[in-house]
Amino acid sequence: MKNKPIIIIGAGISGLTLALALLKNNINVLIFEKEKEIEQRGAGINISPNGTSILYNLGLEKKINSFACKPVNIELRNFNNGFLLAKQNLNNSSEKKFKYPFFQAQRKDLINILFDEINKINSEIIFFDYELKGYEEKNNFVTVTFNNDKKVDGSLIIGCDGINSKVRKTLNPNASSEFSNIIAWRGIVNMNDLPKSITELSPTIWMGNEKHFVHYPVKKGNLLNFIGTVRKDEWHDESWHQFGSKEELKSDFGSANNIIEEIIENVDKPNKWGLFDIKFIKNWASEKALIIGDAAHPMSPSYGQGANCAMEDAIILSRIILKNNNYEGSLFYFQKNREGRVKKLQKSSSRNLKVFHIKNPLLKFIIHSGLYVLNKIIPIILMQSSWIYKFNASNIKIK
Ligand SMILES: Cc1cc2nc3c(=O)[nH]c(=O)nc-3n(C[C@H](O)[C@H](O)[C@H](O)COP(=O)(O)OP(=O)(O)OC[C@H]3O[C@@H](n4cnc5c(N)ncnc54)[C@H](O)[C@@H]3O)c2cc1C
Repeated sequence: MKNKPIIIIGAGISGLTLALALLKNNINVLIFEKEKEIEQRGAGINISPNGTSILYNLGLEKKINSFACKPVNIELRNFNNGFLLAKQNLNNSSEKKFKYPFFQAQRKDLINILFDEINKINSEIIFFDYELKGYEEKNNFVTVTFNNDKKVDGSLIIGCDGINSKVRKTLNPNASSEFSNIIAWRGIVNMNDLPKSITELSPTIWMGNEKHFVHYPVKKGNLLNFIGTVRKDEWHDESWHQFGSKEELKSDFGSANNIIEEIIENVDKPNKWGLFDIKFIKNWASEKALIIGDAAHPMSPSYGQGANCAMEDAIILSRIILKNNNYEGSLFYFQKNREGRVKKLQKSSSRNLKVFHIKNPLLKFIIHSGLYVLNKIIPIILMQSSWIYKFNASNIKIK
């Protein structure tokens, strides 16, 4: 089985991280991506110490530091009246406590350094415009077919093909997707277009009634990235991602918060995502096929953990593959190793979203007051998330 390459479907964060980790250990891989080029979306991404440890261990520290913004503090505020509910020092405490920093960047910069690093090792293994059509597991290998009618044989197929994964559909024909009644807006604004009162703000989470808005600097502070989630009854499109209009974005966030109004006023092309829950993903693995990242376990973006977790998957999988001389059975071990943590992350992300969106005035008062008081006594945000951030996929014991 080992004489054929491992086939990776999708050149997103999980696929590229997995490819790089395997290549660095002299394991042959081929990556197939349905798009015509590497992702160039402007959206930002928040990487926490559990993700940074992976990237630094892959030798990317210097490159990351050429574009990353390392937040000093994070603030939680009431969306409607701006009241500061909690303020937490992130990076001094983070590097001390978790050994690696938080950083914020544009997704495309992160994707590009992974892509460049792979190309430095072997520039002939990423194939664009190859959309997975299906695969067939044979005795000793797997045959993969693409929409361009090409066929490739590999030892394993790893579906890193995101929320609408085809590999997942093959492994879980009964899995179903359901609109979660939440949409997420994303946009980038030039810092020069914003007043000092905004550019000098810490990364902030504004918690509202059935909505929340997060902003932070990217590109060494030259741009501001935002994500705003809001409740919606319907999502009218087959695709989970669309361009939206500034008018629609304005009407979703209203005029209660003049900082958010000003940010929205300056955005050029906002994007919106319909967030979907995928139910009944029981099987991540078969003998020769596996799903990782969003393909296996999509989660609400409200803990900023989807990509961090996808990178954890990639590293744990690469370690399992390396440990097992013969790949047989390796893929089942992956699910066994990852399922517990991932389910906890999914639950915590949904809980965060509920807290951020809380509408009931009494409950809101209790939670906001609790946050305010606790934050005066202990570093509540870091404390309750420390099980997430201290996880180091490169050296954690594999069961
Ligand atoms: C609004 C929002 C904000 C977020 N913010 C954060 C954050 O701050 N921090 C964080 O950690 N996470 C965040 N996430 C989550 C994060 O973006 C995802 O969890 C992460 O991108 C998952 O990576 P992936 O590689 O599994 O999938 P993807 O990034 O979706 O990559 C999948 C790749 O597979 C390709 N593909 C799909 N189908 C096929 C096919 N049939 N054949 C070939 N190729 C195919 C796609 O084109 C794509 O390149 C956010 C998500 C959203 C929606």
